[in-house]
Amino acid sequence: MRVFHSNDHRGHAGAKEMRYDQLIPMCESPDRIDTILAALGDQGHRDIVEAARFDIAPVLRVHTPGFVDFLERCWPLWESEFGPGGFATAYMFGMRGMDQAPNASVHSMLSCYTFDVCVPFVAGTWTAIRSAVDATLSAAAHVAAGNGAAFALCRPPGHHASSDLAGGYCYVNNAAVAAQRLLDGGASRIAILDVDYHHGNGTQSIFYERSDVLYASIHATPEREYPFLLGYRHETGRGRGEGFNFNQPLPLGTRLESYRPALAAALQRVRAHEPDVLIVSLGVDTYAKDPVGGFALETPDFVRIGADIAALNLPTLFVMEGGYAIAELGVNTANVITGFAGG
Ligand SMILES: [Zn+2]
Repeated sequence: MRVFHSNDHRGHAGAKEMRYDQLIPMCESPDRIDTILAALGDQGHRDIVEAARFDIAPVLRVHTPGFVDFLERCWPLWESEFGPGGFATAYMFGMRGMDQAPNASVHSMLSCYTFDVCVPFVAGTWTAIRSAVDATLSAAAHVAAGNGAAFALCRPPGHHASSDLAGGYCYVNNAAVAAQRLLDGGASRIAILDVDYHHGNGTQSIFYERSDVLYASIHATPEREYPFLLGYRHETGRGRGEGFNFNQPLPLGTRLESYRPALAAALQRVRAHEPDVLIVSLGVDTYAKDPVGGFALETPDFVRIGADIAALNLPTLFVMEGGYAIAELGVNTANVITGFAGG
């Protein structure tokens, strides 16, 4: 399977995040990609190529112009106020029920366009966001050209980002941009299977009223886990999208024995949708030792997950999402790819 990647993600680094009552270095760091690249090579996946460059138009098919403009200008505006170093983050968030629009102040933009304190901006953030889109669209083009499967090895991840909100390490929703691009290129139906530990609230919201993109997610129950407010089973879509959103929240401590039936149910829904392309939002923070996650999947389990997805026999685009146990992140991710490839 060809892997698409860009080194331009590296500048998105050095910020800190709140973890409940502590300020800690961000778990979503550049060394995540290094460890995955090394493990892919160890498992014989050597077809790793540089992503092509794309213009911003495909991003604007999913995200609002005001939001995209904010993503690009946030750091320069912040730096002009505070100088170099540090990182930009919101001081407060929008208030429900009020008509809100950002003004010229970067603080108002951060309040309007972010929903948590896990999306800091530094000097290299915008370049990294663009590089993740480039890797994802390159991989999507490769799949659309009839090559079977591809892996967009990108960061920052995307599945928490909605059309006009960044959060949960996510700025642009890479998987959603790819889905729309494939539809614009002639596909009739797309399925997004989200196996990240967290519910992809952003992807859900982008396609919630649409029937051309099925969103199926297996994730930790929002009663115990981020994003806390979304990811319930009763969220099934709205209007034309009714029945095209399939959430399977699972309890903390979930092991493969109970994860696999949920995966089978999601795959069954994907098959019934008859998608032209399956997009897998590939998070491996379901791993037992993940510092962010609370499931109990083990390293060999990821081979099985890859093989189960492969059994659908669909053109498949893997897009990297979460996974933060640096010591095992590489092998866990590569195991999915190897399992998919029949290894
Ligand atoms: Zn996650």
